[in-house]
Amino acid sequence: MNYDVEHTEIRESVARLCADFPGEYWRKCDREQAYPKEFVAALTEAGYLGALIPEEFGGSGLSISAGASILEEIHKSGCNAAACHAQMYTMGTVLRHGSEAQKQQYLPGIADGSVRLQAFGVTEPTSGTDTTALRTAARLEDDTYIVNGQKIWTSRAEHSDLMLLLCRTTPKDQVVKRTDGLSVLLVDMRECDDKSLSIRPIRTMMNHATTEVFFDNMRVPKSSLIGEEGKGFRYILSGMNAERILIASECIGDAKWFISKSSTYASERSVFGRPIGQNQGVQFPIAKAYSQMRAAELMLKEAIRLYEAGGNPGEEANLAKMLAADASWVAAEACVQTHGGFGFAEEYDIERKFREARLYQVAPISTNLILSYIAEHVLGMPRSY
Ligand SMILES: Cc1cc2nc3c(=O)[nH]c(=O)nc-3n(C[C@H](O)[C@H](O)[C@H](O)COP(=O)(O)OP(=O)(O)OC[C@H]3O[C@@H](n4cnc5c(N)ncnc54)[C@H](O)[C@@H]3O)c2cc1C
Repeated sequence: MNYDVEHTEIRESVARLCADFPGEYWRKCDREQAYPKEFVAALTEAGYLGALIPEEFGGSGLSISAGASILEEIHKSGCNAAACHAQMYTMGTVLRHGSEAQKQQYLPGIADGSVRLQAFGVTEPTSGTDTTALRTAARLEDDTYIVNGQKIWTSRAEHSDLMLLLCRTTPKDQVVKRTDGLSVLLVDMRECDDKSLSIRPIRTMMNHATTEVFFDNMRVPKSSLIGEEGKGFRYILSGMNAERILIASECIGDAKWFISKSSTYASERSVFGRPIGQNQGVQFPIAKAYSQMRAAELMLKEAIRLYEAGGNPGEEANLAKMLAADASWVAAEACVQTHGGFGFAEEYDIERKFREARLYQVAPISTNLILSYIAEHVLGMPRSY
């Protein structure tokens, strides 16, 4: 399936929408570390964030390739989908594992944007990548879970109504496998008071609306449990291929933006009486970034093809995410270098995109953890952790 060709119309209309949000807009948000609410509202209104929700729940019922095209186009246009991409895919856990009542209650609102589900609480300060060591615990008392603990890097929590929360419902020493005993709660943050749920923003090198979240005897109705108690880890894992594919698409979009900026500037900027792009020392890093981007894009298309055929492309989705993040970073580096001093000037947007692109080496999964997945699950080498 060639999703480039298939979603041309979607891509064109996303590009038109993005044209209303030029570099100036993002620079202002960046400077103030402000949430790009106008941009998010425009995407919501156009229905793009409900693209993957089935039509029976009010969404567009589009395939993952359409979601990938939307996100790629946003990044290729110089915008940043990180403020809202999770609204597109976090609902997948509810869709796949939620009860019929939960789907009826939440999905239509998520589809039309009146309910925001874009906070995903997994990472904790002490456990980090070692998810099964997380400490946030939920204890059932009658029909209510009492939640205590802390999350970190819970992005967009201040701009979300619901949070998908992974917590321990059975202590680690009472389960056979460490992945057991974790559960997913769909927390309605609108119903929690400030004392039991507090959110503190974390300022980061790019404008990302990320936070740390504290739970102090937070009361969550039992009806918020997604699926079966104790099986939450596998529910979270089941959404990983989609997340990897969508983030890889953003990285491909970033890489295309950097490459286009670089090749244009290299052809126009004249030093020593000729365009700098005439020097192979300037051309080659851009051409190399392009070749890496195209290779990553092919892997991404393969991951999408397998995903849409109903497969479980763990290998391809992980490789696509890693290769695309690497390609965007190589392209970012080439772009700064091509622009010389201007690469550092705010008004060129390159330094902003450079900071934004760096994240994908670390989140939502770090490069090392992808390599370790490949080593263990694809190549059959011994488990390292
Ligand atoms: C801006 C931002 C937004 C984020 N948004 C969210 C969010 O919305 N929700 C959420 O739950 N999380 C979120 N995260 C968290 C992100 O997923 C983690 O930062 C990431 O998974 C790495 O975990 P850590 O920071 O705890 O690093 P650590 O686990 O402390 O690891 C530090 C370094 O050591 C390496 N490392 C660790 N263990 C191994 C090993 N066994 N082998 C080799 N290398 C290893 C890692 O690759 C990493 O480079 C976000 C992070 C950032 C920075």
